[in-house]
Amino acid sequence: MNEDIKEVLYSKQQIEEVSKKIGVQLTNDYADKKPLVICVLKGAVLFMADIIRKIDTYVEIDFMDVSSYGEATVSSGEVKIIKDLDVPVEGRDILIVEDIIDTGKTLQCLVNLLKHRKAASVKICTLLDKPERRMEGIIPDYVGFQVPNEFVVGYGLDYKGMYRNLPYVGILKSEVYENN
Ligand code: 5GP
Ligand code: MG
Ligand code: MG
Repeated sequence: MNEDIKEVLYSKQQIEEVSKKIGVQLTNDYADKKPLVICVLKGAVLFMADIIRKIDTYVEIDFMDVSSYGEATVSSGEVKIIKDLDVPVEGRDILIVEDIIDTGKTLQCLVNLLKHRKAASVKICTLLDKPERRMEGIIPDYVGFQVPNEFVVGYGLDYKGMYRNLPYVGILKSEVYENN
């Protein structure tokens, strides 16, 4: 599995440090709010699990699964809800946790939906941001790292369902998806 990675961008330790830093900010920003933290499945599972343990105040969590990419490495521009929330969002302070923001289409759709459902506030926390490819006016409130316009995997991010369990974020060798 490691031999499919061209370059490690962010190590396990760098991710740990950045989650701690964001956790401190979230603890301050949400000190009196009891936010509903929404994990966008499946990519954000690892980041969400690490982040919430660094938030030292009351939080509730829920999960949502949306699809935009299918098995390709470029966005289809379509966003489909596969699993909706269990908890009502009306009046809640929402923190969306994402693995990566690329075009921003997925998040634009989610933010619109949550506002339509009358969330009191909606903020975005993403491990990775790929601002070069942005097509929507989405600006994340909390960002782990910016990444270049490359297809990355690991720490939750997949290619065809694989590589999520890598403890770091790395660039996938192009021959891996060109030969598939
Ligand atoms: P967007 O709607 O912002 O274009 O796409 C967001 C979703 O596309 C992410 O949540 C992620 O699932 C997927 N995605 C975008 N860029 C990458 C990437 O470099 N690697 C992987 N594994 N997934 C990506
Ligand atoms: Mg995602
Ligand atoms: Mg994916």
